[in-house]
Amino acid sequence: MRIFDPHIHMTSRTTDDYARMAAAGVLAVVEPSFWLGQPRTNPGSFTDYFDSLLGWEPYRAAQFGVVHHATIALNPKEAGDPRCVPVLDLLPRYLDKDRVVAVGEIGYDSMTPEEDDAFERQLALAVEHDLPALVHTPHRDKARGTRRTLELVAASGIDPGRVAVDHLNEVTVGLVSGTGCWMGFSIYPETKMSPPRMVEILRRHGTERVLVNSAADWGVSDPLLTLETANAMLAAGFDEDDVDRVMWRNPVEFYAQSGRLDLTGLTAAEPSFAEPTFAGSSIKRGGE
Ligand SMILES: [Zn+2]
Repeated sequence: MRIFDPHIHMTSRTTDDYARMAAAGVLAVVEPSFWLGQPRTNPGSFTDYFDSLLGWEPYRAAQFGVVHHATIALNPKEAGDPRCVPVLDLLPRYLDKDRVVAVGEIGYDSMTPEEDDAFERQLALAVEHDLPALVHTPHRDKARGTRRTLELVAASGIDPGRVAVDHLNEVTVGLVSGTGCWMGFSIYPETKMSPPRMVEILRRHGTERVLVNSAADWGVSDPLLTLETANAMLAAGFDEDDVDRVMWRNPVEFYAQSGRLDLTGLTAAEPSFAEPTFAGSSIKRGGE
């Protein structure tokens, strides 16, 4: 089984996770830029993070035979902080880089006018840079947030087939299914979507334009919940081709729209656990 996790925050994960993922067949990941928990106080803090997503993290992933791409954006959680908003002016230079396969995560957290503004500006950047957009929907007031998201997407003029609306559930999937946008689902260990609930959604809505991710980050999360969902699909009577479509071909199709998805490393790379070096650092010694 081959798995492509289209939304995972590997910055927050250890090399143990990469080893477990590779062993489980998670061979490709996309890491959206997001909120680090600790509020950032200036745009330079973002650029260091973006550089890490495009330099250090793909290098680290490659040691385990995992191909890593990223999406770049000012995330919704910090979009209302005037100290962070100037990063919007720095985004164009990142959106031109090779490993950037979408603008994201953009969207709503609390649905403030400031978030409207950052969301609109970044949808326009996606159009301008000919990139797909990865859109986070809020965890509170999700139905209203999803409706407003779809209004903004429609008004932006972006092709809906180039938009993934993420963190959907049973309540919001129906709002998105007829729009032409892709439907993203994050599977969590405790709250929100679980593998059995995901299987039920696949039964009702089919496998077309569906993306399943672990959204694993610094919170309670599990990078192997994609595998668990795949196994739950098989146990429920989906066949291997259905699983391959949802877990591999769909994310490939969505991100390939960037023209930058490069999976050639998959055949070339031999997983190596030898002591690697990168810009004077060593993975074995971690962050020293
Ligand atoms: Zn995320």
